[in-house]
Amino acid sequence: MNEVRVQELIRQLLIEIGEDPEREGLQKTPERVAKSYAFLTKGYRTDPAEVINNAVFQSEANNMIIARDIEVYSLCEHHLLPFYGVCHIGYVAKKHVLGLSKLSRIVELYSRRLQIQERLTSQIARAIKDAIDAEGVGVVMECKHLCMMMRGVEKQHSTMTTSSVLGSFHHSQSTRLEFLNLIGK
Ligand SMILES: [Zn+2]
Repeated sequence: MNEVRVQELIRQLLIEIGEDPEREGLQKTPERVAKSYAFLTKGYRTDPAEVINNAVFQSEANNMIIARDIEVYSLCEHHLLPFYGVCHIGYVAKKHVLGLSKLSRIVELYSRRLQIQERLTSQIARAIKDAIDAEGVGVVMECKHLCMMMRGVEKQHSTMTTSSVLGSFHHSQSTRLEFLNLIGK
């Protein structure tokens, strides 16, 4: 991402919405917004293999592993406004497990992009499944969307819930129910 070009675009945007980019409060705004966008979209410039590969551990256990309430911050691709909330991840390993911090890194890898919540949820599930060849993976995400809340559309206070289940979480109802029970749903 070319931050200098983005700064100029933000300057133009300020003019178009009727602002004066030279007034004191806005003078550094293009620079700040460019930096902010570089951070909020860094998932495009992060190598997935690097995030995942050095964090796979051997394990003989095949019980369900759960990580609850992982924070999610992303930008909706329709309005470039934030959506945020939590996601809950469960998986059953075959031979490999992921370090807990890596689950958060995988969430970041896909949330630091322009997203819709449904796709974000399934990309996270797929990435975990592929990284460790898991027997099954489940991801449930609960987010609030500022594009709905700020623009006065109905359901201002509602939370959107999405889920993606793969492998045994898809095929086996008892596995899926165990997952939902463990995350308190
Ligand atoms: Zn939106």
